Amino acid sequence: MQLDYNSLLLALGVSSSCLAVTLVGSWLARRPETFLLTCSAGLAPIVGGIFCYGAYVDNPRPMLAILTSLLFYIGFSIIWAAGYQFRMRRLSIDRVLLGSLVGIVASVPAMLAGYDGLAFMVENSVIAVLLMLTAREYWLSRCEAPVPLYGMSGLYALTAVSFVLCAGVLIWDGKLVLGHAPDNWAEDISLAICIAGMTGIGALSLSLHQWRQAAHHRLEAITDPLTGLRNRRALFDLHRHRPFGPSTAVIVFDIDRFKAVNDQHGHAAGDIVLKLFAEELSAGLRASDTAARLGGEEFALVLDNALSGQAEQIAERVRCAFAAREITVEGKRFACTVSAGIALGTAKGIAFDSVLSAADKALYAAKRNGRNRVEVAAYLHTVMPDASRTAS
Ligand code: GH3
Ligand code: MG
Ligand code: MG
Repeated sequence: MQLDYNSLLLALGVSSSCLAVTLVGSWLARRPETFLLTCSAGLAPIVGGIFCYGAYVDNPRPMLAILTSLLFYIGFSIIWAAGYQFRMRRLSIDRVLLGSLVGIVASVPAMLAGYDGLAFMVENSVIAVLLMLTAREYWLSRCEAPVPLYGMSGLYALTAVSFVLCAGVLIWDGKLVLGHAPDNWAEDISLAICIAGMTGIGALSLSLHQWRQAAHHRLEAITDPLTGLRNRRALFDLHRHRPFGPSTAVIVFDIDRFKAVNDQHGHAAGDIVLKLFAEELSAGLRASDTAARLGGEEFALVLDNALSGQAEQIAERVRCAFAAREITVEGKRFACTVSAGIALGTAKGIAFDSVLSAADKALYAAKRNGRNRVEVAAYLHTVMPDASRTAS
C-alpha cells in the first residue's frame, strides 16, 4: 500500500510537471494570457511539495514536512492568484502573500512544536480553503466560457472537498501527534482525486485558452479597429434576417467634406475626427440600439422601439453635438459637421438592406440640400403619411 501511495505521488508529481510545461508552451503561443504562466508558476512549488512529501512519507523528519507545507501554501496561493488573474486580467501578489502567510502562521509553529497531527489538520484545511477560493474565481467568470469554466470550478471544488475529508478524518481521530505522514482512506481518495483533477484542470485550462482565443478572433472580426464600433458585417449579421417594422429606424451618418479634413490636417487628424464622431454616436445609446461604422466616414445607427419622431431627435442630437465640438489637432483648432438620412421600417415589415438604402437616399438628399442636416426617406410618405420631414 505504501509503495502504491508513493507511486501515485510520483505520478502526480510527473503529471503536474508536464502540465506546467504545457501551460508555458500555450502561453508562449499567446502572450496576453498570462494566467497560464501564473498557473505554471504555481505548479512549480506544488511539484516540489509533492516530491518533498514523498520523501517525508519514507523519512518523517519535521523539516521535510515544513518544507512541504511551505511549498504547498505558496503553490496553491499562486494557483488562486491565477484564477483571480483570469477573471480580473491583473495579477494579485496580495493573494499569494495572504494565502502563503496564513498557511505558514497557522501550521508551521504546530509542526515545530512537535504537534504534526495538528499541523496536518490545519494544512489540509488551509489548502481546501485556497482551492475553494480558486473554484470561486472560475465560477464568477463562468459567463465567458460556460463549459470549461463550470468544469474548472467543479474540479477545484471537488479537490477542495478531498482535502476537507483528509482534515476531517484527522480531526475525527483526534491525534495531535502522529510521528509520520497521515495514512488513512481519505488520503488515498484525495490522492486519486488530485491526479484526476490535475488532468482535468490541465485539459480545461488549455481549452479555456482556446475558447478565449476564439472569442478574441470573433470580436476582432466584427469590430472596427479604429473606433471600436461594430463594423458593417456585424451590423448586417445582426439585422439581416429580421423584418423592420414601423418602430425600427435606421439612421445613416456621413461626415461632411471629410476629404478636405484629411487634405488640410492630415490623415491622422482625420482618424481623430472619426473617433470623436464614434464617441458622439455612442453617447446616450440605449441597450437595444446598435451603432456601427459602415466604412470610411459613414456610420449607421439602428434604433429598436423608436417612438414617432425619436429617430429624428437622436439624429439631430448627434448632428448638433458633433458640430459644436471643437477639435484640436497639433495646436490647430477646427470643427466638422455631419449629415444624416433616416428611414423607418414598414407596417408589413421590410428587409434591413431596403431600409438602409432608403436611409442612404435621404442622406444624399441632405448632402444636396446643403449638408449639416437631417432628412427622412421619401418613400415613407406613401407608406406612413404621418412621417414628418421628407427628403426632396
Ligand atoms: P461629402 O461631404 O460629400 O461626404 O464629402 P467627403 O469629402 O466627406 O466625401 P468623400 O467620399 O469624397 O471623401 C471621403 C474621404 O474619407 C476619402 C477618404 O480618403 C477618407 N477616408 C476613408 N476612410 C478613412 C479613414 O479610415 N481615415 C481617414 N483619415 N480618412 C478616411
Ligand atoms: Mg463625407
Ligand atoms: Mg462618404
